[in-house]
Amino acid sequence: MSLFEYAPAPESRSIVELAPSYGLFIDGEFGEAKDTFKTINPADEQVLAEVALAGPEDVDRAVAAARRAFESWSALPGSERAKYLFRIARILQERSRELAVLESLDNGKPIKESRDVDLPLVAAHFFYYAGWADKLKYAGLGPDPRPLGVAGQVIPWNFPLLMLAWKIAPALATGNTVVLKPAETTPLSALFFADVCRQADLPPGVVNIVTGAGDTGRYLVEHPDVNKVAFTGSTEVGRQIARSVAGTGKKLTLELGGKAANIVFDDAPIDQAVEGIVNGIFFNQGHVCCAGSRLLVQESIASSLLDALKRRMATLRVGDPLDKNTDIGAINSRAQLDRITELSEIGAGEGAERWSPPCELPDRGFWFAPTIFTGVTQAHRIAREEIFGPVLSVLTFRTPAEAVEKANNTPYGLSAGIWSEKGSRILAVADQLRAGVVWANTFNKFDPTSPFGGYKESGYGREGGRHGLEAYLA
Ligand code: NAP
Ligand code: MG
Repeated sequence: MSLFEYAPAPESRSIVELAPSYGLFIDGEFGEAKDTFKTINPADEQVLAEVALAGPEDVDRAVAAARRAFESWSALPGSERAKYLFRIARILQERSRELAVLESLDNGKPIKESRDVDLPLVAAHFFYYAGWADKLKYAGLGPDPRPLGVAGQVIPWNFPLLMLAWKIAPALATGNTVVLKPAETTPLSALFFADVCRQADLPPGVVNIVTGAGDTGRYLVEHPDVNKVAFTGSTEVGRQIARSVAGTGKKLTLELGGKAANIVFDDAPIDQAVEGIVNGIFFNQGHVCCAGSRLLVQESIASSLLDALKRRMATLRVGDPLDKNTDIGAINSRAQLDRITELSEIGAGEGAERWSPPCELPDRGFWFAPTIFTGVTQAHRIAREEIFGPVLSVLTFRTPAEAVEKANNTPYGLSAGIWSEKGSRILAVADQLRAGVVWANTFNKFDPTSPFGGYKESGYGREGGRHGLEAYLA
């Protein structure tokens, strides 16, 4: 029983004004398409708006607009491009409250996260790459690095505006123009971003937004006049894109899935580790490619750590994404909820022990209680497959060597975490982990100056930092 009841603390929905319908943003103008689809609020299943569905001709027009704009945009001095990016960054900050509410409505993530994590990072990305625009000569990529041309960018639904920032900011800073396709279930913040571009007087055609489903993404990445493809999403679609791009001369970066190990040694600061485990798997409902979805805990402390973790999980608040006290919001879509449910049932069926704290879930919308599985072995599907939800698989180990072996026993290699008081152990273990990012005594920390990307089936190429420029320069 909790000592205090929380009173509701809802953020006002009226901070964001939604139109009944939105068009495609091509060549600086919003225009209609033949077909439309609806985007809903996953917390109550209500329709938020109707959105244009881009067909092949629409994608054609968007790529043509980006091609026309490329000539003058790429010819601008870097310091001039920087002015636009700084302006966009400042407008994003000014409109951050509105955009945070919008993101929580369309995606289901808690307002606390869209407000304190997504939006600040979105603005930081634009500020950071604005700073690079006039310094590309000094990026270590040769004396005169050149932009590639038109970038076709396809992003997922888990961090709609942040993934947009990761894609668009470096592309524009380096003198490329873009056509971006947001995910079908979260198109709205990209369309509001289009409005930010207009507000910033960005020349028409430099940024184009084509909304739609998987087919729209396919038309875009297969378009012959696209020079660079940047994709974030599932390994399955990433593989398909790699095949279709092969031999075309298009440059490709892929940011795919993960099944990160969060390794807790017996000398770890337990309370901090528990916070890191919770952040690692329950942040953003676990819809995080680098989520710490496999907890590897040293056997000697496993039972005390799990007790502490369960106590902490019992305090997590699941519910209305717009409530400022909410820790875990809505699952983004019915399809994703079904996938999480199915894999969890498989986990229980395979013999792992399932536990969730008592928590009341709302009647409408898509919800999943925070869940842990103990007694998981490496053969279990919940230890191998990405669940992409608030579900943690717990495994144990006895020696550092065993921890490393288990951590690396995955087709993925995006991120990992190490919890230990001993610096030398952290460095030795980090050195052996096949993961693009390794956090020590923390988890899910992001910064625009730091490169991010994977090994193996987690993809290739890096986003963020100086490394992120390379993907957009020849
Ligand atoms: P997904 O199906 O791969 O979708 C990602 C994006 O690709 C969406 O915009 C999707 O459109 C589009 N798409 C689908 N089929 C396509 C095709 N044949 N050609 C071109 N585009 C296509 O992934 P998801 O299920 O939405 O997202 C979850 C997955 O993304 C997870 O596996 C997660 O690990 C991964 N992810 C990775 C990172 C990273 O940085 N490495 C970040 C976030 C997510 P629709 O939305 O209309 O289907
Ligand atoms: Mg939606």
